[in-house]
Amino acid sequence: MIASFRQRFGPSQQPRVFRAPGRVNLIGEHTDYNLGFVLPVALDLATYIAAAPSSDGKLRIYSEDRQELREFDASSLATVKPTREWTDYPLGVAQELVRAGVPVEGANLLIRSTVPDGSGLSSSAALEVSSALALLAGREFDPLELAKLCQRAERNFVGMPCGIMDQYISVFGRAHSAVEIDCRSLGHRLVKLPDGIAFIAVNTMVKHAHSGSAYRDRVRECAAAVEGIEAVYPDVQSLRDVSPEQFAGVASRLPGVVARRARHIVTEDARVNRFVEASAHGDLTGMGKLMVESHRSLQHDYEVSCAELDFLVDAALALDGVYGSRMTGGGFGGCTVTLLRTEAAPSFRASIARAYERQFAVTPRIYSCEPSEGAGEVKKLETIPSLA
Ligand code: ADP
Ligand code: MG
Repeated sequence: MIASFRQRFGPSQQPRVFRAPGRVNLIGEHTDYNLGFVLPVALDLATYIAAAPSSDGKLRIYSEDRQELREFDASSLATVKPTREWTDYPLGVAQELVRAGVPVEGANLLIRSTVPDGSGLSSSAALEVSSALALLAGREFDPLELAKLCQRAERNFVGMPCGIMDQYISVFGRAHSAVEIDCRSLGHRLVKLPDGIAFIAVNTMVKHAHSGSAYRDRVRECAAAVEGIEAVYPDVQSLRDVSPEQFAGVASRLPGVVARRARHIVTEDARVNRFVEASAHGDLTGMGKLMVESHRSLQHDYEVSCAELDFLVDAALALDGVYGSRMTGGGFGGCTVTLLRTEAAPSFRASIARAYERQFAVTPRIYSCEPSEGAGEVKKLETIPSLA
C-alpha cells in the first residue's frame, strides 16, 4: 500500500496508514435512528487510508477500488458542495472537521478497502471514519465526537438520514466482542458471545437502486408513528420510548402501514435485549430464534427485505448446525448473517453457495465475521491485506 502510495504521489512521501472497520449487525435493525438498541460487531474487513501532507494546499483522494483520483482545494472545504459521488463521504468528513474547528490542510490520500460496498456491511462508515483519522493525521479527537462527526457527514453532506450505529461501531468495535449500543444515551456495553459458534455473512450480490429513497420513507414513517403515539402518550419522543404494551394500546389509531413499521421497531428493540440475555446464558437456540423473528419482522412489517435475502435465510435454516439467520444492514439486498456451530461452517459455506447459485445463477460472496478492533492507526504495516 505504501509502495502504491509513493508511485502515485511521489517516492519521498512518508504516509501514515489508518484503518476503520466495516461491521455486521447481529440484531437491532433500523432501530438506531429510532434511538433504540443495536448489537453490531466490527469486522476484520476494513477501509485503509494511507495519508501524507501535500505541499500545495490540495486535498487529493485516490480510491483504488474506483481507480479514480480527485482533487480539491483544502481552502475551499468549508463551502464545497456534494456531487453525489463517492468523494462525498471523505469530503463531508473534511467539511465537518473544518466546522468543528480542526484545520484541514492539503493532503494526499490513498484508499484501499476490503469492505464490499453497498452490501450492508457499512463500507460508507468505514470510509468516513478512516477519512477522519487520515485528515486528523494523529491529532487527538474524542472518539464519541468522532463517530458523531462522521454521522453528521453522512446526514448533512451525503444526504442519508442515517442513525449512529455504523460510525459508532467502526470507532468502538472490540475484538472477541459484540457491542450493544444504546443509540439515545450513546453509551455501550461489550457483549461476550458464547464459545463454539460463528457468525457468517452471505452476500446476495444484489444492490437495490431504490434503497436510499426507501430508507428515507422508513425514517418518515417512524416519525409519523411517533406523532400519532405522542397524542396519547405525550412523553414519547421516539419509538424507543414505546413499550410493547403501550404500542398494543395505540396501534389501531395509526394508519396500517405506519403501525406495522412501528411494530417492527418496538419489537426489535425488545429482541436486542432478549438476544443479549440469551447470549449471556449460552442459549443458542434462543439467540437463533430471535434472529429469525427479526428477519420476519423486517420482511413483513418493515418491508425492507427482498427475494434473495429471504431465500438465503430460508436456505440457511434448513442446513445442519444453523441456529438462526437474518438480513443485516439496511436491506433491499446486501448480506444475511447466520449463527451456527463453528464445526458446521465449512459445509454451510459450500451448501449455501450451491443453493444460491442454483436459484439465482449468481455466486454469493461469503465472509466470516470475526469480531475485530475499532478504528485506529496501523502501526504494523504487514497486517494490511492486499486487494488481490
Ligand atoms: P454500505 O455502507 O452498506 O456499504 P452505502 O450505500 O451506505 O453502502 O455506501 C456505499 C458507498 O460508499 C459507495 O457507493 C461509495 O460511494 C462509497 N464507498 C465505500 N467504499 C469506497 C471505496 N473504497 N472507494 C470509494 N468509495 C467508496
Ligand atoms: Mg452505509
